[in-house]
Amino acid sequence: MTELPNSREQWETMAAELTINGRAFINGEYTDAASGDTFECRSPIDNRVLAQVVSCDQADVDQAVANARATFEAGCWSRMAPAARKQVMIKLAGLLLEHKEELALLETLDMGKPISDSLSVDIPAAARSLSWSGEAIDKVYDEIAPTPENEIGMITREPIGVVGAIVPWNFPLLMACWKLGPALATGNSVVLKPSEKSPLTAIRIAELAIEAGLPKGVLNVLPGFGHTAGKALALHNDVDTLVFTGSTRTAKQLMVYAGESNMKRIWLEAGGKSPNIVFADAPDLRAAASAAAGAICFNQGEVCTAGSRLLVEENIHDEFVAMVIEELQQWKPGHPLDPATNVGAIVDQQQLQTVLNYIEAGKQDGALLQTGGTQTLSETGGYYVQPTVFTGVSNKMRIAQEEIFGSVLSVITFNGEEEAVSIANDTDYGLAAAVWSQDIGKAHRVAKRLRAGSVWVNHYDGGDMTAPFGGYKQSGNGRDKSLHAFDKYTELKATWISLG
Ligand code: NAD
Repeated sequence: MTELPNSREQWETMAAELTINGRAFINGEYTDAASGDTFECRSPIDNRVLAQVVSCDQADVDQAVANARATFEAGCWSRMAPAARKQVMIKLAGLLLEHKEELALLETLDMGKPISDSLSVDIPAAARSLSWSGEAIDKVYDEIAPTPENEIGMITREPIGVVGAIVPWNFPLLMACWKLGPALATGNSVVLKPSEKSPLTAIRIAELAIEAGLPKGVLNVLPGFGHTAGKALALHNDVDTLVFTGSTRTAKQLMVYAGESNMKRIWLEAGGKSPNIVFADAPDLRAAASAAAGAICFNQGEVCTAGSRLLVEENIHDEFVAMVIEELQQWKPGHPLDPATNVGAIVDQQQLQTVLNYIEAGKQDGALLQTGGTQTLSETGGYYVQPTVFTGVSNKMRIAQEEIFGSVLSVITFNGEEEAVSIANDTDYGLAAAVWSQDIGKAHRVAKRLRAGSVWVNHYDGGDMTAPFGGYKQSGNGRDKSLHAFDKYTELKATWISLG
Protein backbone atom coordinates (compact mmCIF):
# COMPACT_ATOMS: atom_id res chain seq x y z
CA MET A 1 0.00 0.00 0.00
CA THR A 2 1.32 3.46 -0.84
CA GLU A 3 1.64 5.91 2.02
CA LEU A 4 -0.58 8.94 2.28
CA PRO A 5 1.06 12.24 1.45
CA ASN A 6 1.75 13.81 4.82
CA SER A 7 3.25 17.18 4.05
CA ARG A 8 2.25 20.20 2.01
CA GLU A 9 5.19 19.52 -0.33
CA GLN A 10 3.99 15.98 -1.02
CA TRP A 11 0.45 17.19 -1.73
CA GLU A 12 1.86 19.93 -4.01
CA THR A 13 3.83 17.30 -5.92
CA MET A 14 0.77 15.14 -6.26
CA ALA A 15 -1.24 18.19 -7.42
CA ALA A 16 1.36 18.99 -10.08
CA GLU A 17 1.09 15.42 -11.43
CA LEU A 18 -2.70 15.29 -11.36
CA THR A 19 -4.60 14.97 -14.62
CA ILE A 20 -7.80 16.94 -14.24
CA ASN A 21 -10.78 16.10 -16.38
CA GLY A 22 -13.24 18.93 -17.05
CA ARG A 23 -15.59 17.21 -19.48
CA ALA A 24 -19.25 16.37 -19.15
CA PHE A 25 -20.28 12.72 -18.77
CA ILE A 26 -23.26 11.60 -20.85
CA ASN A 27 -24.34 8.03 -21.54
CA GLY A 28 -21.17 6.54 -20.07
CA GLU A 29 -18.71 8.71 -21.94
CA TYR A 30 -16.83 11.94 -21.44
CA THR A 31 -17.89 14.54 -23.94
CA ASP A 32 -17.68 18.23 -24.79
CA ALA A 33 -20.69 20.53 -24.73
CA ALA A 34 -22.65 20.58 -28.00
CA SER A 35 -21.80 24.31 -28.17
CA GLY A 36 -18.11 23.65 -27.52
CA ASP A 37 -18.21 26.18 -24.66
CA THR A 38 -15.93 25.89 -21.65
CA PHE A 39 -15.13 27.96 -18.58
CA GLU A 40 -12.02 28.36 -16.44
CA CYS A 41 -11.99 26.45 -13.19
CA ARG A 42 -9.69 28.29 -10.77
CA SER A 43 -8.39 27.32 -7.35
CA PRO A 44 -9.25 29.70 -4.50
CA ILE A 45 -5.98 28.67 -2.85
CA ASP A 46 -3.96 30.91 -5.18
CA ASN A 47 -6.23 31.68 -8.13
CA ARG A 48 -4.36 29.29 -10.45
CA VAL A 49 -6.28 27.79 -13.38
CA LEU A 50 -6.94 24.12 -12.69
CA ALA A 51 -8.80 23.13 -15.84
CA GLN A 52 -11.04 24.22 -18.65
CA VAL A 53 -14.44 22.82 -17.76
CA VAL A 54 -17.22 22.08 -20.22
CA SER A 55 -20.14 24.49 -19.99
CA CYS A 56 -23.35 22.60 -20.72
CA ASP A 57 -26.58 24.17 -21.86
CA GLN A 58 -30.05 23.17 -23.04
CA ALA A 59 -28.82 20.88 -25.83
CA ASP A 60 -26.62 18.87 -23.45
CA VAL A 61 -29.38 18.69 -20.85
CA ASP A 62 -31.78 17.40 -23.52
CA GLN A 63 -29.25 14.77 -24.54
CA ALA A 64 -28.48 13.65 -20.99
CA VAL A 65 -32.15 13.51 -19.96
CA ALA A 66 -33.01 11.49 -23.10
CA ASN A 67 -30.26 9.00 -22.28
CA ALA A 68 -31.30 8.83 -18.65
CA ARG A 69 -34.92 8.20 -19.73
CA ALA A 70 -33.92 5.51 -22.22
CA THR A 71 -31.80 3.75 -19.63
CA PHE A 72 -34.57 3.95 -17.08
CA GLU A 73 -37.11 2.49 -19.49
CA ALA A 74 -34.70 -0.24 -20.59
CA GLY A 75 -34.74 -1.46 -16.99
CA CYS A 76 -31.05 -2.44 -16.88
CA TRP A 77 -30.82 -0.59 -13.57
CA SER A 78 -34.37 0.33 -12.60
CA ARG A 79 -35.54 -3.29 -12.69
CA MET A 80 -32.35 -4.87 -11.43
CA ALA A 81 -32.85 -6.79 -8.17
CA PRO A 82 -32.18 -4.56 -5.17
CA ALA A 83 -29.53 -6.98 -3.92
CA ALA A 84 -27.68 -6.62 -7.22
CA ARG A 85 -27.92 -2.80 -7.16
CA LYS A 86 -26.54 -2.99 -3.65
CA GLN A 87 -23.38 -4.69 -4.88
CA VAL A 88 -22.71 -1.93 -7.41
CA MET A 89 -23.29 0.78 -4.81
CA ILE A 90 -20.92 -0.87 -2.38
CA LYS A 91 -18.31 -1.29 -5.08
CA LEU A 92 -18.62 2.39 -6.00
CA ALA A 93 -18.24 3.38 -2.35
CA GLY A 94 -15.12 1.21 -2.21
CA LEU A 95 -13.71 2.92 -5.31
CA LEU A 96 -14.22 6.33 -3.70
CA LEU A 97 -12.15 5.15 -0.74
CA GLU A 98 -9.54 3.58 -3.01
CA HIS A 99 -9.17 6.94 -4.76
CA LYS A 100 -9.57 9.04 -1.66
CA GLU A 101 -6.29 10.93 -1.94
CA GLU A 102 -7.01 11.94 -5.53
CA LEU A 103 -10.61 12.92 -4.74
CA ALA A 104 -9.60 14.78 -1.58
CA LEU A 105 -6.95 16.66 -3.52
CA LEU A 106 -9.42 17.60 -6.26
CA GLU A 107 -11.88 18.83 -3.63
CA THR A 108 -9.29 20.93 -1.83
CA LEU A 109 -7.82 22.43 -5.00
CA ASP A 110 -11.28 23.17 -6.36
CA MET A 111 -12.98 24.79 -3.36
CA GLY A 112 -10.22 25.56 -0.88
CA LYS A 113 -11.11 23.41 2.11
CA PRO A 114 -8.28 21.96 4.24
CA ILE A 115 -6.88 18.74 2.80
CA SER A 116 -7.19 17.01 6.17
CA ASP A 117 -10.96 17.69 6.12
CA SER A 118 -11.37 16.52 2.53
CA LEU A 119 -9.54 13.35 3.44
CA SER A 120 -11.11 12.58 6.79
CA VAL A 121 -14.60 14.03 6.37
CA ASP A 122 -15.78 14.66 2.80
CA ILE A 123 -14.60 11.59 0.93
CA PRO A 124 -15.31 8.95 3.63
CA ALA A 125 -18.75 10.47 4.30
CA ALA A 126 -19.54 10.51 0.56
CA ALA A 127 -18.56 6.83 0.31
CA ARG A 128 -20.62 6.06 3.39
CA SER A 129 -23.70 7.67 1.87
CA LEU A 130 -23.42 5.38 -1.16
CA SER A 131 -22.72 2.21 0.79
CA TRP A 132 -25.37 2.94 3.45
CA SER A 133 -28.09 3.46 0.84
CA GLY A 134 -26.94 0.39 -1.07
CA GLU A 135 -26.86 -1.72 2.08
CA ALA A 136 -30.35 -0.58 3.04
CA ILE A 137 -32.12 -1.12 -0.26
CA ASP A 138 -32.50 -4.90 -0.03
CA LYS A 139 -33.85 -4.60 3.51
CA VAL A 140 -36.81 -2.32 2.99
CA TYR A 141 -40.15 -4.03 2.49
CA ASP A 142 -43.37 -2.88 0.89
CA GLU A 143 -46.78 -3.11 2.57
CA ILE A 144 -50.00 -5.08 2.38
CA ALA A 145 -53.13 -3.16 3.35
CA PRO A 146 -55.59 -4.60 5.89
CA THR A 147 -58.23 -5.69 3.35
CA PRO A 148 -61.42 -7.74 3.47
CA GLU A 149 -61.02 -11.47 2.80
CA ASN A 150 -61.68 -11.27 -0.97
CA GLU A 151 -59.22 -8.50 -1.79
CA ILE A 152 -55.51 -7.81 -1.55
CA GLY A 153 -54.21 -4.25 -1.32
CA MET A 154 -50.51 -3.91 -2.12
CA ILE A 155 -48.65 -0.69 -1.40
CA THR A 156 -45.40 -0.72 -3.31
CA ARG A 157 -42.60 1.72 -3.93
CA GLU A 158 -41.30 2.27 -7.42
CA PRO A 159 -38.36 4.33 -8.67
CA ILE A 160 -39.63 7.67 -9.89
CA GLY A 161 -37.72 7.81 -13.18
CA VAL A 162 -35.29 10.57 -14.14
CA VAL A 163 -33.88 12.53 -11.23
CA GLY A 164 -32.26 15.92 -11.77
CA ALA A 165 -29.82 16.76 -8.97
CA ILE A 166 -28.39 20.26 -8.50
CA VAL A 167 -25.74 20.58 -5.80
CA PRO A 168 -23.65 23.33 -4.17
CA TRP A 169 -19.93 23.93 -3.75
CA ASN A 170 -19.37 23.72 0.00
CA PHE A 171 -19.25 19.91 0.24
CA PRO A 172 -19.25 19.13 -3.49
CA LEU A 173 -18.88 15.34 -3.51
CA LEU A 174 -20.67 14.76 -0.21
CA MET A 175 -23.78 16.73 -1.20
CA ALA A 176 -23.79 14.92 -4.57
CA CYS A 177 -23.59 11.56 -2.78
CA TRP A 178 -26.39 12.44 -0.34
CA LYS A 179 -28.51 12.57 -3.52
CA LEU A 180 -26.86 9.78 -5.52
CA GLY A 181 -27.00 7.23 -2.68
CA PRO A 182 -30.78 7.00 -2.34
CA ALA A 183 -31.51 8.03 -5.97
CA LEU A 184 -29.43 5.20 -7.45
CA ALA A 185 -30.21 2.63 -4.77
CA THR A 186 -33.93 2.98 -5.53
CA GLY A 187 -33.31 2.41 -9.25
CA ASN A 188 -33.54 5.87 -10.79
CA SER A 189 -31.42 7.40 -13.52
CA VAL A 190 -29.75 10.67 -12.60
CA VAL A 191 -28.57 13.85 -14.28
CA LEU A 192 -26.23 15.59 -11.82
CA LYS A 193 -25.37 19.29 -12.15
CA PRO A 194 -22.45 20.24 -9.88
CA SER A 195 -21.73 23.84 -8.93
CA GLU A 196 -19.64 25.81 -11.41
CA LYS A 197 -17.40 26.63 -8.42
CA SER A 198 -16.53 23.00 -7.69
CA PRO A 199 -17.32 20.58 -10.54
CA LEU A 200 -14.24 18.35 -10.46
CA THR A 201 -15.06 15.49 -8.09
CA ALA A 202 -18.54 14.98 -9.57
CA ILE A 203 -16.96 14.67 -13.01
CA ARG A 204 -14.46 12.13 -11.70
CA ILE A 205 -16.91 9.82 -9.94
CA ALA A 206 -19.02 9.40 -13.06
CA GLU A 207 -16.15 7.33 -14.43
CA LEU A 208 -15.76 5.41 -11.18
CA ALA A 209 -19.46 4.56 -11.31
CA ILE A 210 -18.99 2.85 -14.67
CA GLU A 211 -16.01 0.96 -13.24
CA ALA A 212 -18.25 -0.15 -10.36
CA GLY A 213 -20.74 -1.63 -12.83
CA LEU A 214 -23.38 1.08 -13.10
CA PRO A 215 -24.94 0.76 -16.58
CA LYS A 216 -24.16 3.57 -19.01
CA GLY A 217 -26.67 6.42 -18.98
CA VAL A 218 -27.76 5.86 -15.37
CA LEU A 219 -25.48 8.60 -14.06
CA ASN A 220 -24.82 11.66 -16.20
CA VAL A 221 -22.83 14.66 -15.01
CA LEU A 222 -23.30 18.08 -16.56
CA PRO A 223 -21.05 20.89 -15.39
CA GLY A 224 -22.13 24.33 -16.48
CA PHE A 225 -21.37 27.97 -15.95
CA GLY A 226 -23.98 30.21 -14.37
CA HIS A 227 -27.61 29.16 -14.28
CA THR A 228 -27.96 27.80 -17.81
CA ALA A 229 -27.63 24.05 -17.29
CA GLY A 230 -29.40 24.06 -13.91
CA LYS A 231 -32.28 26.10 -15.28
CA ALA A 232 -32.66 23.82 -18.31
CA LEU A 233 -32.74 20.79 -16.00
CA ALA A 234 -35.26 22.38 -13.65
CA LEU A 235 -37.55 23.36 -16.54
CA HIS A 236 -37.22 20.04 -18.36
CA ASN A 237 -40.51 18.28 -18.98
CA ASP A 238 -39.00 14.82 -18.84
CA VAL A 239 -37.33 15.17 -15.43
CA ASP A 240 -39.58 13.52 -12.84
CA THR A 241 -37.96 14.80 -9.67
CA LEU A 242 -35.58 17.62 -8.94
CA VAL A 243 -33.45 17.37 -5.82
CA PHE A 244 -31.45 20.38 -4.76
CA THR A 245 -29.00 21.58 -2.16
CA GLY A 246 -28.06 25.23 -2.25
CA SER A 247 -29.28 28.66 -1.29
CA THR A 248 -32.84 29.53 -0.35
CA ARG A 249 -32.90 32.10 -3.15
CA THR A 250 -32.20 29.45 -5.80
CA ALA A 251 -34.54 26.98 -4.08
CA LYS A 252 -37.45 29.40 -4.47
CA GLN A 253 -36.61 29.90 -8.14
CA LEU A 254 -36.58 26.15 -8.72
CA MET A 255 -40.09 25.88 -7.30
CA VAL A 256 -41.19 28.38 -9.92
CA TYR A 257 -39.49 26.33 -12.66
CA ALA A 258 -41.23 23.17 -11.47
CA GLY A 259 -44.58 24.95 -11.59
CA GLU A 260 -43.85 26.41 -15.02
CA SER A 261 -42.96 23.02 -16.47
CA ASN A 262 -44.22 19.53 -15.62
CA MET A 263 -44.90 19.93 -11.89
CA LYS A 264 -41.92 17.71 -11.23
CA ARG A 265 -41.51 16.76 -7.59
CA ILE A 266 -39.08 19.14 -5.97
CA TRP A 267 -37.05 18.60 -2.83
CA LEU A 268 -34.96 21.38 -1.41
CA GLU A 269 -32.13 21.53 1.12
CA ALA A 270 -31.42 25.21 1.53
CA GLY A 271 -29.81 27.77 3.81
CA GLY A 272 -29.58 28.20 7.57
CA LYS A 273 -28.88 30.66 10.37
CA SER A 274 -28.56 28.22 13.22
CA PRO A 275 -28.82 29.26 16.88
CA ASN A 276 -26.35 27.71 19.32
CA ILE A 277 -27.91 28.35 22.76
CA VAL A 278 -25.63 28.28 25.79
CA PHE A 279 -27.33 28.38 29.19
CA ALA A 280 -25.38 29.31 32.29
CA ASP A 281 -25.89 25.75 33.54
CA ALA A 282 -24.16 24.14 30.54
CA PRO A 283 -22.36 21.02 31.79
CA ASP A 284 -18.96 22.24 30.62
CA LEU A 285 -18.56 25.83 29.44
CA ARG A 286 -15.10 25.16 28.07
CA ALA A 287 -16.45 22.33 25.87
CA ALA A 288 -19.31 24.58 24.76
CA ALA A 289 -16.83 27.36 23.85
CA SER A 290 -14.67 24.95 21.91
CA ALA A 291 -17.72 23.65 20.03
CA ALA A 292 -18.94 27.21 19.34
CA ALA A 293 -15.58 28.06 17.76
CA GLY A 294 -15.62 24.90 15.66
CA ALA A 295 -19.24 25.47 14.66
CA ILE A 296 -18.36 28.75 12.94
CA CYS A 297 -14.85 27.90 11.67
CA PHE A 298 -15.19 24.40 10.26
CA ASN A 299 -15.13 24.52 6.44
CA GLN A 300 -14.42 28.31 6.67
CA GLY A 301 -17.95 28.77 7.97
CA GLU A 302 -19.25 27.64 4.56
CA VAL A 303 -21.63 25.19 6.19
CA CYS A 304 -25.43 25.28 6.02
CA THR A 305 -25.57 24.30 9.71
CA ALA A 306 -22.84 26.72 10.85
CA GLY A 307 -23.56 27.88 14.40
CA SER A 308 -23.65 31.47 13.24
CA ARG A 309 -25.88 32.85 16.02
CA LEU A 310 -24.39 32.20 19.45
CA LEU A 311 -27.08 32.83 22.06
CA VAL A 312 -25.44 33.25 25.47
CA GLU A 313 -27.23 33.63 28.80
CA GLU A 314 -26.53 37.13 30.07
CA ASN A 315 -24.90 36.23 33.40
CA ILE A 316 -22.09 34.23 31.71
CA HIS A 317 -21.71 36.46 28.66
CA ASP A 318 -18.30 38.03 29.34
CA GLU A 319 -16.71 34.89 30.71
CA PHE A 320 -18.05 32.75 27.87
CA VAL A 321 -17.15 35.14 25.04
CA ALA A 322 -13.60 35.32 26.41
CA MET A 323 -13.43 31.52 26.27
CA VAL A 324 -14.74 31.42 22.69
CA ILE A 325 -12.13 33.96 21.59
CA GLU A 326 -9.43 31.88 23.28
CA GLU A 327 -10.67 28.77 21.49
CA LEU A 328 -10.59 30.63 18.17
CA GLN A 329 -6.82 30.80 18.49
CA GLN A 330 -6.88 27.15 17.42
CA TRP A 331 -8.55 28.10 14.13
CA LYS A 332 -6.20 29.95 11.81
CA PRO A 333 -6.39 30.32 8.04
CA GLY A 334 -3.51 28.57 6.33
CA HIS A 335 -2.51 26.83 3.12
CA PRO A 336 -5.20 24.22 2.43
CA LEU A 337 -2.64 21.63 1.30
CA ASP A 338 -0.81 21.82 4.63
CA PRO A 339 -2.16 18.88 6.67
CA ALA A 340 -2.03 21.06 9.82
CA THR A 341 -4.39 23.69 8.37
CA ASN A 342 -7.94 23.73 9.74
CA VAL A 343 -9.25 26.90 8.04
CA GLY A 344 -8.77 27.00 4.29
CA ALA A 345 -9.62 29.42 1.49
CA ILE A 346 -13.03 30.95 0.79
CA VAL A 347 -14.40 29.44 -2.41
CA ASP A 348 -13.92 32.47 -4.66
CA GLN A 349 -13.48 36.22 -4.77
CA GLN A 350 -17.22 36.84 -4.93
CA GLN A 351 -17.84 34.86 -1.73
CA LEU A 352 -14.87 36.57 -0.06
CA GLN A 353 -16.43 39.93 -0.89
CA THR A 354 -19.80 38.77 0.46
CA VAL A 355 -18.19 37.86 3.79
CA LEU A 356 -16.28 41.16 3.97
CA ASN A 357 -19.47 43.09 3.13
CA TYR A 358 -21.30 41.41 6.01
CA ILE A 359 -18.47 42.29 8.37
CA GLU A 360 -18.88 45.91 7.27
CA ALA A 361 -22.66 45.68 7.74
CA GLY A 362 -22.16 44.35 11.27
CA LYS A 363 -19.97 47.34 12.15
CA GLN A 364 -22.38 49.81 10.56
CA ASP A 365 -25.34 48.33 12.41
CA GLY A 366 -23.54 48.90 15.72
CA ALA A 367 -22.31 45.38 16.57
CA LEU A 368 -18.98 45.26 18.41
CA LEU A 369 -16.12 43.62 16.53
CA GLN A 370 -14.18 41.52 19.07
CA THR A 371 -11.73 39.68 16.86
CA GLY A 372 -10.94 39.07 13.19
CA GLY A 373 -12.82 41.10 10.62
CA THR A 374 -10.15 41.23 7.94
CA GLN A 375 -8.89 39.46 4.88
CA THR A 376 -5.59 37.66 5.35
CA LEU A 377 -2.90 35.87 3.28
CA SER A 378 -3.79 38.03 0.26
CA GLU A 379 -0.15 37.75 -0.93
CA THR A 380 -0.96 34.15 -1.93
CA GLY A 381 -3.45 35.35 -4.53
CA GLY A 382 -6.09 33.27 -2.70
CA TYR A 383 -9.09 34.25 -0.58
CA TYR A 384 -8.80 34.01 3.19
CA VAL A 385 -10.61 35.72 6.07
CA GLN A 386 -9.80 35.80 9.78
CA PRO A 387 -12.48 34.14 11.92
CA THR A 388 -14.61 37.01 13.19
CA VAL A 389 -16.69 37.57 16.32
CA PHE A 390 -19.25 40.31 16.90
CA THR A 391 -20.86 40.89 20.31
CA GLY A 392 -23.70 43.27 21.13
CA VAL A 393 -25.66 41.83 18.21
CA SER A 394 -29.42 42.29 18.10
CA ASN A 395 -31.32 39.52 16.37
CA LYS A 396 -32.76 42.11 13.97
CA MET A 397 -29.37 42.99 12.47
CA ARG A 398 -28.47 41.69 9.03
CA ILE A 399 -25.58 39.65 10.43
CA ALA A 400 -28.10 37.84 12.66
CA GLN A 401 -30.76 37.30 10.01
CA GLU A 402 -28.94 36.63 6.74
CA GLU A 403 -26.82 33.62 5.89
CA ILE A 404 -23.22 34.85 5.53
CA PHE A 405 -21.53 31.54 4.72
CA GLY A 406 -18.23 32.54 6.30
CA SER A 407 -16.64 32.49 9.76
CA VAL A 408 -18.57 35.44 11.18
CA LEU A 409 -20.10 34.76 14.59
CA SER A 410 -22.91 36.90 16.00
CA VAL A 411 -23.16 36.76 19.79
CA ILE A 412 -26.61 37.60 21.17
CA THR A 413 -27.55 37.63 24.85
CA PHE A 414 -30.73 36.30 26.44
CA ASN A 415 -32.30 35.82 29.84
CA GLY A 416 -33.99 32.51 30.54
CA GLU A 417 -35.69 29.82 28.49
CA GLU A 418 -38.54 31.89 27.02
CA GLU A 419 -36.30 34.52 25.55
CA ALA A 420 -33.80 31.95 24.25
CA VAL A 421 -36.52 30.09 22.33
CA SER A 422 -38.07 33.28 21.05
CA ILE A 423 -34.77 34.64 19.65
CA ALA A 424 -33.73 31.24 18.30
CA ASN A 425 -36.97 30.85 16.34
CA ASP A 426 -37.02 34.45 15.12
CA THR A 427 -35.53 33.60 11.72
CA ASP A 428 -36.74 32.60 8.26
CA TYR A 429 -34.57 29.49 8.50
CA GLY A 430 -34.99 26.25 10.45
CA LEU A 431 -32.15 23.92 9.61
CA ALA A 432 -30.37 23.21 12.90
CA ALA A 433 -29.99 24.39 16.49
CA ALA A 434 -28.08 23.43 19.62
CA VAL A 435 -28.82 23.76 23.31
CA TRP A 436 -26.35 23.48 26.17
CA SER A 437 -27.75 22.80 29.66
CA GLN A 438 -27.32 20.12 32.29
CA ASP A 439 -30.95 20.51 33.35
CA ILE A 440 -32.44 17.60 31.39
CA GLY A 441 -35.97 18.98 31.63
CA LYS A 442 -34.91 22.37 30.31
CA ALA A 443 -32.84 20.84 27.52
CA HIS A 444 -35.81 18.74 26.38
CA ARG A 445 -38.29 21.61 26.68
CA VAL A 446 -36.13 23.91 24.60
CA ALA A 447 -35.22 21.19 22.06
CA LYS A 448 -38.94 20.50 21.52
CA ARG A 449 -39.79 24.13 20.91
CA LEU A 450 -36.95 24.85 18.48
CA ARG A 451 -38.25 25.00 14.91
CA ALA A 452 -35.34 23.17 13.28
CA GLY A 453 -34.78 19.88 11.47
CA SER A 454 -31.79 18.93 13.66
CA VAL A 455 -31.33 19.80 17.33
CA TRP A 456 -28.17 18.97 19.24
CA VAL A 457 -27.98 18.83 23.01
CA ASN A 458 -24.65 19.49 24.71
CA HIS A 459 -22.64 19.22 21.51
CA TYR A 460 -22.72 20.63 17.98
CA ASP A 461 -23.29 18.98 14.58
CA GLY A 462 -23.98 15.40 15.63
CA GLY A 463 -25.62 12.74 13.48
CA ASP A 464 -24.78 10.16 10.86
CA MET A 465 -26.44 8.34 7.97
CA THR A 466 -29.04 6.86 10.31
CA ALA A 467 -30.70 10.21 11.04
CA PRO A 468 -32.65 12.37 8.57
CA PHE A 469 -31.22 15.77 7.71
CA GLY A 470 -33.14 18.76 6.41
CA GLY A 471 -34.94 21.91 7.29
CA TYR A 472 -38.08 23.54 8.61
CA LYS A 473 -39.36 26.80 7.13
CA GLN A 474 -37.18 28.35 4.41
CA SER A 475 -34.39 25.86 5.02
CA GLY A 476 -36.24 23.49 2.72
CA ASN A 477 -38.41 20.41 2.61
CA GLY A 478 -37.89 16.66 2.60
CA ARG A 479 -34.90 14.97 4.15
CA ASP A 480 -31.52 13.67 3.03
CA LYS A 481 -29.93 10.64 4.74
CA SER A 482 -31.63 7.77 6.58
CA LEU A 483 -34.46 5.63 5.19
CA HIS A 484 -36.61 8.78 5.00
CA ALA A 485 -34.50 9.93 2.03
CA PHE A 486 -35.98 7.10 -0.06
CA ASP A 487 -39.32 8.95 0.02
CA LYS A 488 -37.92 11.55 -2.37
CA TYR A 489 -36.90 9.04 -4.99
CA THR A 490 -39.91 6.72 -5.09
CA GLU A 491 -43.58 6.85 -6.00
CA LEU A 492 -46.08 4.97 -3.87
CA LYS A 493 -48.40 2.68 -5.81
CA ALA A 494 -51.57 1.10 -4.48
CA THR A 495 -52.49 -2.08 -6.39
CA TRP A 496 -55.88 -3.41 -5.36
CA ILE A 497 -56.65 -6.97 -6.37
CA SER A 498 -60.05 -8.61 -6.30
CA LEU A 499 -59.86 -12.30 -5.47
CA GLY A 500 -63.28 -12.86 -7.01
P1 NAD B 1 -26.57 28.34 -4.96
O1 NAD B 1 -28.03 28.31 -4.70
O2 NAD B 1 -25.96 29.58 -5.47
O3 NAD B 1 -26.19 27.22 -6.03
C1 NAD B 1 -26.50 25.86 -5.81
C2 NAD B 1 -26.57 25.16 -7.15
O4 NAD B 1 -27.66 25.71 -7.88
C3 NAD B 1 -25.34 25.33 -8.02
O5 NAD B 1 -25.11 24.13 -8.71
C4 NAD B 1 -25.76 26.44 -8.98
O6 NAD B 1 -25.09 26.40 -10.20
C5 NAD B 1 -27.23 26.14 -9.15
N1 NAD B 1 -28.04 27.29 -9.52
C6 NAD B 1 -27.90 28.56 -9.10
N2 NAD B 1 -28.90 29.33 -9.61
C7 NAD B 1 -29.67 28.51 -10.36
C8 NAD B 1 -30.86 28.71 -11.13
N3 NAD B 1 -31.45 29.90 -11.25
N4 NAD B 1 -31.39 27.64 -11.75
C9 NAD B 1 -30.84 26.42 -11.62
N5 NAD B 1 -29.71 26.18 -10.93
C10 NAD B 1 -29.14 27.21 -10.29
O7 NAD B 1 -25.89 27.84 -3.62
P2 NAD B 1 -24.34 27.69 -3.33
O8 NAD B 1 -23.79 29.07 -3.15
O9 NAD B 1 -23.72 26.80 -4.34
O10 NAD B 1 -24.31 26.89 -1.95
C11 NAD B 1 -24.40 27.49 -0.73
C12 NAD B 1 -25.80 27.32 -0.19
O11 NAD B 1 -26.11 25.94 -0.05
C13 NAD B 1 -25.98 27.92 1.19
O12 NAD B 1 -27.18 28.65 1.22
C14 NAD B 1 -26.07 26.70 2.09
O13 NAD B 1 -26.77 26.92 3.28
C15 NAD B 1 -26.74 25.72 1.21
N6 NAD B 1 -26.52 24.35 1.68
C16 NAD B 1 -27.56 23.69 2.26
C17 NAD B 1 -27.38 22.40 2.73
C18 NAD B 1 -28.53 21.64 3.35
O14 NAD B 1 -28.43 20.41 3.43
N7 NAD B 1 -29.61 22.29 3.75
C19 NAD B 1 -26.13 21.78 2.62
C20 NAD B 1 -25.10 22.49 2.03
C21 NAD B 1 -25.30 23.78 1.54
